[in-house]
Amino acid sequence: MSDITLILLGAGSASRFKLPPKKQWLWIGHEPLWLKVANDFQNINSFKSTIIVSSRSDIQTMSNFAEFTFVEGGDSRQQSLKNALKDVNTPYVLVSDIARCCLDDDMIKRVISAKKNKSCVVPTLKMVDTLYLDESPINRDGVKIIQTPQLSCTQTLKNALNSNHEFTDDSSAVASLGGEVIFVEGSAKAHKLTTVEDLAKMTCLKAPSKRALSGFGIDIHAFEEGKPMVLCGIEIDSPFGFKAHSDGDVAIHALIDALLGAAGLGDIGEFYPDTSEDYKGVDSKELLKDTVKRLKAFGYLIGNVDLTIIAQTPKLLTYKKAMRFQLAKLLNLTPNLVNIKATTAEKLGWIGRKEGVAVEAISTLYYYDWTTNENYHN
Ligand code: MG
Repeated sequence: MSDITLILLGAGSASRFKLPPKKQWLWIGHEPLWLKVANDFQNINSFKSTIIVSSRSDIQTMSNFAEFTFVEGGDSRQQSLKNALKDVNTPYVLVSDIARCCLDDDMIKRVISAKKNKSCVVPTLKMVDTLYLDESPINRDGVKIIQTPQLSCTQTLKNALNSNHEFTDDSSAVASLGGEVIFVEGSAKAHKLTTVEDLAKMTCLKAPSKRALSGFGIDIHAFEEGKPMVLCGIEIDSPFGFKAHSDGDVAIHALIDALLGAAGLGDIGEFYPDTSEDYKGVDSKELLKDTVKRLKAFGYLIGNVDLTIIAQTPKLLTYKKAMRFQLAKLLNLTPNLVNIKATTAEKLGWIGRKEGVAVEAISTLYYYDWTTNENYHN
């Protein structure tokens, strides 16, 4: 059994990375970047456990992808690492950043095989350029460029990070308690993905899969007298609306489920629970906007959507065009990619008895192609 836990840090806001998805959510083949990095590490070494540190909203989604341990990050790298270390019970811990996404197997094996009690193992690169300090050249032979991942004795690192001092890396924290720092040869491949320009250097990153993802949603609401009726964000002239915790826009709810379904993100209740006061009477257009924003951040593009509203009453023919244009605006799609169908239930069942309305929706998503950045129309 391995005596090492892997910690992958990825809670930063990545504000220097100017693409619609967050960098952790660039799709590499069939996997988001964070998962590719985590899986690549598992192929190099068997870890006792793997902890991924990220923001709370990302964790909710990440946990649908893999059974790693997910920990919420802090305000700084050091705080994020401290949060993760609480869950570590192995003698050693290997810490890396998700942004160091191209792994050099040999370098990681060198780091792991050099481990020693109370120490920290650090990969380093030699300086090949001439160096000046202020106005004077200095001997570059004594200079090392420090890289990650670094492997530390867990207890030493925990003790060191309990101080108020902000360390720039794990080795300086371990060294502050008198731990030994062991240097091994690093790798020129271990770049950090910080800006879009860095992507050109990351030859290990393959283009996203062109797989189309489909999702289905259904929602049902009963009528309630005296409430305004809203469908697809359009007010419908009707003596009753829908019984609901929110504004009762049953069409938008079905559509949100179709979108979340295509992305493998669960259902509307997981993101906007109808038990929460935050969503009491909420305008469902706001929920759809938030869903679209979420999909964009997680690297998805919407291909098209198609809805069928099953209603004995009210008559919807004259509203269909307005619904199409309203949803197109909310989804950032051209209106031809948003289809609205309306049908009756031929007077059968509860819909036929005019007790409520059902809506079915489907959607198609694609992965954002960061290699061309051309298909980002939404
Ligand atoms: Mg609903």
